[in-house]
Amino acid sequence: MYLDDEIIACKKCKLEIEDVFLKGIVGKEELKILKHPRRVLYANYPITKDNGKVEIITAYRVLYNNNLGPGKGGIRFHSSVDLDEVSELAFIMSLKTSLVELPFGGAKGGVRINPRDFSKEEIEKISRGYVKEFYKYLGPKEDIPAPDVNTNPEIMGWMADEYGKITGEDSKAFITGKTIEDGGSEGRDKSTAMGGFYIFEEEYKNIVSKKEIKVAIQGFGNAGSVMAKLLFDAGYSVVAVSDSSSAIYNENGLDVDDVFKYVYGGDKKQKLIKYENAIKINNSELLELNVDSLVPAALGGIITMENVKNIKAKMILELANGPISVNAEKILEENNVKIIPDLLANSGGVIVSYFEWDQNLKNEHWSLEDVNNKLKEKIIKAYKEVLNVSKSEKLSLRKSAFKIAIERINKK
Ligand code: NAD
Repeated sequence: MYLDDEIIACKKCKLEIEDVFLKGIVGKEELKILKHPRRVLYANYPITKDNGKVEIITAYRVLYNNNLGPGKGGIRFHSSVDLDEVSELAFIMSLKTSLVELPFGGAKGGVRINPRDFSKEEIEKISRGYVKEFYKYLGPKEDIPAPDVNTNPEIMGWMADEYGKITGEDSKAFITGKTIEDGGSEGRDKSTAMGGFYIFEEEYKNIVSKKEIKVAIQGFGNAGSVMAKLLFDAGYSVVAVSDSSSAIYNENGLDVDDVFKYVYGGDKKQKLIKYENAIKINNSELLELNVDSLVPAALGGIITMENVKNIKAKMILELANGPISVNAEKILEENNVKIIPDLLANSGGVIVSYFEWDQNLKNEHWSLEDVNNKLKEKIIKAYKEVLNVSKSEKLSLRKSAFKIAIERINKK
């Protein structure tokens, strides 16, 4: 779930991936299947607003590829949503599900609204309307939605309920990211960071003193704050974290419990600019700190040619989507910085979404421990596969991840 809407849209990333990362490592024939989306749905449907006026809502659903199974991907509510963006994101989802070996293809949905312009009742109408428009092409064996920017478990619940009403089917496995009461999975809310954390631990498994490992995290939302807490609890030194207002720093390690309590402990989420128990630095300074590991967990495009020469981290684990520009990545590679790519590093969310769907179909409810063990097994298996390809083919981890994902889609 996304609390802020500064998230940068993914546009033209498909072209960039083809031009920069896939040249010479994946054949033209193999790319054919991913050239165009398999299915594109577009609707303009009316809802009646609280004031009695009719508003037309524009919505999309793209099933990009379904070689490996039904489509999987979130639905975002945002004023910038358009078909290109939804399609690009559905393409990325196809690669992500393939990389971590889920029995899913890739899909994405979007509604072109600013949620702030609508009351809760109107948002419910928009959510139910989305299902009414597209239900024939959605479903547990066809295409399974989930939350994304500005959508949440409550919205998933309305959508599942609407699907059940229309089709008369048990609607639980129709959508993931539900509340536990509606059939959601334990651990889904923390799964993105948890997946990243397992990779982080694997990376530093031979380290004698975790306290010596210094980490800076950009973003203290869903992904970043949970990552900070997991690393802190495991004994690493989280020296800096940030939000859109400021970054905070302590060279000996922040008391992440205290920061957490300050930001999330009250009725309203607090901004870090007013946190008093650490030094304030700005967000650019955070990125350039002398740390072992940097975890971008806020925005895309934050490491560019402008600041790449100042990056001192030896490892970058991309919880955020697309935090490093293509040219900056080349410089980081020359400097032997290890980059754990977003496709893998933030795949924990979709992995646990798969577990939710699986539990719903089997009418089971797994314990948190079970979910996390299965997540660890799956993400570490994928990570090792990426490391092996990277070693044997002398490719970056990102290129290796793309290669594995595309080859698997083609093999089916
Ligand atoms: P969020 O909205 O919960 O948190 C975003 C955080 O970034 C907030 O703390 C916000 O204040 C901070 N931020 C915004 N602008 C900033 C700036 N200029 N400098 C520093 N910090 C800034 O979002 P999230 O769910 O944590 O997602 C963060 C990133 O992770 C996004 O790139 C998202 O695409 C990616 N991601 C998240 C998930 C997930 O399940 N949450 C899954 C996959 C990928």
